[in-house]
Amino acid sequence: MDLPALNAFLIDNKYPAFRARQITKNYYSGRYISFDQMTDLPKVLRDQLIANFDLLSVTPIQTYDSLHTQKTVLQLVDGLKIETVLMDYDGWLTACISSQVGCALGCTFCATGKMGLKRNLTTSEIIDQIIYWNTKLYPKYIGRVVFMGMGEPFMNWDNVFAAIKHINDKDGLNIGQRKISISTAGLADKIIDFANLNTQINLAVSLHSADQISRAQLMPIARKFDLETLKKACEIYTRKTNRQLFFEYALIRDKNDTQSHLNDIIEFMGNNRLFFLNIIPLNPIPNGLPPSNQQTLSLWEQQLSRHHVNFSFRRTFGQNIAAACGQLATTN
Ligand code: SF4
Repeated sequence: MDLPALNAFLIDNKYPAFRARQITKNYYSGRYISFDQMTDLPKVLRDQLIANFDLLSVTPIQTYDSLHTQKTVLQLVDGLKIETVLMDYDGWLTACISSQVGCALGCTFCATGKMGLKRNLTTSEIIDQIIYWNTKLYPKYIGRVVFMGMGEPFMNWDNVFAAIKHINDKDGLNIGQRKISISTAGLADKIIDFANLNTQINLAVSLHSADQISRAQLMPIARKFDLETLKKACEIYTRKTNRQLFFEYALIRDKNDTQSHLNDIIEFMGNNRLFFLNIIPLNPIPNGLPPSNQQTLSLWEQQLSRHHVNFSFRRTFGQNIAAACGQLATTN
């Protein structure tokens, strides 16, 4: 919901200040899907709110269910669509949310990248993805948020961090900073800016290769920020924040999973105890690149262990409903 517009409306219509607090609290509670259900408000005010505001700036169009995962296509006020994912495992309800409609960065393994960028999401559209899930889950609620849906969060910096302020605020969604994660394709300058914010928010970097040539083939952004520049920024981040930094690596057959790629990643991880590598099997997309085979996964596991790299093989859910990393896309 557009809270600044709501506040202005209430002031213009001479409502007492506590009404704004009351409506804001109701909105963040995830308990209501329409103003009409807010029976703690006078009927005349409820009618005015219905006439002038959308409680949520996103409207569910379609939901897909899978083991531990649900995906919903949400329509925005201008008719564009985004996807948002709920993950329910390890005792946590996690929302994987989008920050843009589409994405400009065009990673070759990613369905969102194939859409191009339509526009940035507004602060409300980012927050409302979480509130949408809370309305479905009530009285349970989202405990963790990951910016790993559609888009590059650092390319929508102002709206993403304005949204995070409300997601984290105790009078907002009250989700601790350590329960929020941002994933970037590797915008080195923004990684340094992010380090300077001095937050407790987790950072993940989509690496996908520690060899400049193959990384640039998979992720065109690597031509702007080469591996050396990216690694320097990551080292500045860990030095400044003393926080772990997660590198995402989707294993793609013959593109980034050979012995030489394995040697490169072992060298890249070096002895930085705050670098952590998440290996994920590539999630297939239509006409997309092929994932690595099981034999390769086992070989990587053995060699990474032998070289004492901090790593894990991440489980992945939701592939069958195209809700896993890199699979989100809408036809707008
Ligand atoms: S992987 Fe992320 S940065 Fe790359 S195209 Fe997809 S959404 Fe954009």
